[in-house]
Amino acid sequence: MNIELRNVRFSYGPVQALDGVTLQIGEGACGLLGPNGAGKSTLLKILLGFLRPSLGDGLVLGHDILKDSFGIRRVVGYMPEDDCFIPGLDAVAFTAHFGELSGMPRAEAMKRAHDVLYYVGLGEARYRLLETYSAGMKQRLKLAQALVHDPKILFLDEPTANLDPQGRTEILELISDITSKKDLHVLISSHILTDIEQTCTSLVILNKGKVAAQGDLAALREVRFSLYEMKVVGESGAFLEALRRRECRVETTEDGVIKVYLPQTVERRDLFGLAGDAGVQVRHFVKSRTSLEDLFARTVGVD
Ligand code: ADP
Repeated sequence: MNIELRNVRFSYGPVQALDGVTLQIGEGACGLLGPNGAGKSTLLKILLGFLRPSLGDGLVLGHDILKDSFGIRRVVGYMPEDDCFIPGLDAVAFTAHFGELSGMPRAEAMKRAHDVLYYVGLGEARYRLLETYSAGMKQRLKLAQALVHDPKILFLDEPTANLDPQGRTEILELISDITSKKDLHVLISSHILTDIEQTCTSLVILNKGKVAAQGDLAALREVRFSLYEMKVVGESGAFLEALRRRECRVETTEDGVIKVYLPQTVERRDLFGLAGDAGVQVRHFVKSRTSLEDLFARTVGVD
């Protein structure tokens, strides 16, 4: 396991940002998905040792988050959500500076800075002052800064924030290239489903400071929530109401299909019981695939 957290809690004064987070993250690219305010940035900062949990513990690549934040920063590259630019520097000086901060000798940091700037597509612009960079270039520079010390794992906090469609496509392509490398693991926080879908193989969904779902993306889609499509006759509202009372999320389509998302407390045969009680006849009944969007909506309760 690359990352493990046990029962981690953290508050900013009265605001409980993380409320008993337990998770395990393995190899490859993992998405940390959740709406704004879910606690994603706080979680990344706890993993980096920047913030200390009030309760709980954890390991990042074997380093204790409570005792070894220095060890963690050597093996982790961090791309923060907020800008971290130092005015008056060009990209080479900026990137090399971060290399030195994570313990690289100056000459090596300089050499690596050139390499990673070319890798993220800023080779030509590497001597320009950062003030002149576009939003997309700044985002790629933050990625270069996170890669400069050759980390084993990368934390990317909202990497597509504030980008236009072109900039977004470019950064997602870069991330996909990074995640295809076997020796570099990535944890990507985002509130955008498609970003995660495009780049990750596993997923943690965070909502209101708690883990709402976690696991392999494909498996989560298949198993976690059962979605059935039904057509019934004789419905006057009682069936849908009965479904909602049992905590099923229900959608109806224009062509009369009822989509029912079952919580784990309701079984498929219960649907027939509820239909019978409501006096409707089931004419069509199939199990359907839940998309990541369905899963996200179901776990965080948004439509
Ligand atoms: P996310 O990254 O998922 O948007 P955050 O970790 O930034 O979530 O925030 C989690 C919660 O903690 C939110 O309610 C947010 O308002 C609050 N919060 C975050 N940073 C601070 C801070 N420095 N001071 C007070 N509250 C904060």
